[in-house]
Amino acid sequence: MQEIIRQLLSELGEDASREGLLDTPKRVEKSLRFLTGGYQADVDEILNNALFTVDYNEMVIVKDIDFYSLCEHHLLPFFGKCHVAYIPNGRVVGLSKIPRLVDIFSRRLQVQERLTNQIAETILEKINPLGVAVVMEATHLCMSMRGVEKQNSFAVTSSMLGAFRDNARTRMEFLELIKLRSAVRTPSDLVESDCVLDK
Ligand SMILES: [Zn+2]
Repeated sequence: MQEIIRQLLSELGEDASREGLLDTPKRVEKSLRFLTGGYQADVDEILNNALFTVDYNEMVIVKDIDFYSLCEHHLLPFFGKCHVAYIPNGRVVGLSKIPRLVDIFSRRLQVQERLTNQIAETILEKINPLGVAVVMEATHLCMSMRGVEKQNSFAVTSSMLGAFRDNARTRMEFLELIKLRSAVRTPSDLVESDCVLDK
């Protein structure tokens, strides 16, 4: 990978052999391996020793989880907050595992919609709750840095499954509890996000 990064620097018009850039290929490789480390992570390994049987059927919410991901169209960061809720059906997962799950799927090349769905569907599959809700609010540097419609560089996506899809009151309770940065929006108002593609 380092040789490719050296080539990339040259293509950009840089002198890859100047002092400041000498170790850059090594650093970039290390950083990219970390930022895409989610491909190597094993969801089962992380969750399996953290699932507990309990008699609790109220909504569990973990909000304001910081996440950082890379958009697959430009390899530029998008980042923000993730809010997760589920209604247990006899089983709960250790609370610290939810941010770990968000990390696993964030540290890949992503689009925000798929990232949101993957987190929700994994919780549905592994914990088998009555419902799952995931909302992600993110700023996309591929839009804000490139000056493409700056006001739209912030995107909100949601995935509502089970009780959160079927029951408007449950969904509203969740949205009220996470209090989205700019007023509470119903899922139908949520912005369709996509970074702007250069055709
Ligand atoms: Zn992008």
